Amino acid sequence: MKWNLYLGRIAGIKLFMHWTFIILIGWIFLMHFRMGNSLRDGLLGVAFVLAIFACVILHELGHSLTARKFKIGTRRITILPIGGLASLERMPEKPGQELWVAIMGPVVNVVIALFLLIILSATAGIPSQQEMMDLQENQVGLIGGGYFLFNLMVVNLFLVVFNLIPAFPMDGGRVLRALLSYRMTRSRATNVAARIGQFLAILFVFAGFYTNFWLVFIGIFIFLGAGGEASFEATKGILSDYRIRDVLMTQYTMLSPDDNLDRAVQALLDGQEKEFLVGTENAVVGVLTRDRIIKGLNELGRAAPVSQVMRKDFITMHPDMEVQEVYHQMMTNGCSVGPVYRDSQLIGIVDRENINELVLVNKALDK
Ligand SMILES: [Zn+2]
Repeated sequence: MKWNLYLGRIAGIKLFMHWTFIILIGWIFLMHFRMGNSLRDGLLGVAFVLAIFACVILHELGHSLTARKFKIGTRRITILPIGGLASLERMPEKPGQELWVAIMGPVVNVVIALFLLIILSATAGIPSQQEMMDLQENQVGLIGGGYFLFNLMVVNLFLVVFNLIPAFPMDGGRVLRALLSYRMTRSRATNVAARIGQFLAILFVFAGFYTNFWLVFIGIFIFLGAGGEASFEATKGILSDYRIRDVLMTQYTMLSPDDNLDRAVQALLDGQEKEFLVGTENAVVGVLTRDRIIKGLNELGRAAPVSQVMRKDFITMHPDMEVQEVYHQMMTNGCSVGPVYRDSQLIGIVDRENINELVLVNKALDK
């Protein structure tokens, strides 16, 4: 099942929409249809959501196009019911650059709000307080007529405030980290920013119990996001100190492509290894993971040759490669093991589990 619908390209960046967004549009239509009891109100509701959708895309483009100035590409922009997400190839690590990339999203919404304010004042479209109260009471056509642009302006201001909450994963969290990075190392700045974010999140949860329950959800969302970012940065920091030779395993079992799965199962049960190289000492032609062995047994039976089940898209490494780079590649292509060569000589094997152990050991020692 594909969760994201491809909408097209904008400024050369692929634009996707999560399919749950369609449910949101349907729900908005029904809600407004029932409130106003007319097709026109239903459609107005949908038009309003689409207008917000456009503002969110512009916000994400604010991030992406600023990143492009620093030679950082954007893989895709995804629109979710809770907001947008610009997947940058990487986050800029220089504080000044991160600050610009993070702040330009909310700045776009400030510009949109100002633009709408100018239009509204020119057309006298700003509702009086009495009018607003009448509307709230009737609950009808809250976004109809001249109030459409006014409400769009309010939503943009809300987006600015919400995104500038100084906590990961909000833009404000990145702004805070960038500012802190001027005075301390990046990993320390991340930790401090994450702590501040989690403290704020707890305040939100408490405040939510007494005021608006939505604050509780926002608080939990921020709390998890802040912790995730801190642990991600910590892992990156640890890995950047190591090379492949530091995680190399020299004891390994080699299978032949002609071996059958029975032989692979034997190897699996004989020792601690869960992943195997396939080939000869001079030429590794594939890798076999435990998942693949189980899948192969299920689909092809125990007599099937290893060559039919192995993965061929493994990563070939050399001892001087950075662990961080290999780890990133393993995460993206999903192949968790590969051979290591020195001067075209096979010297060992590296798998993701071993890298994870390295991280765990370092985190434990760091305490
Ligand atoms: Zn943003």
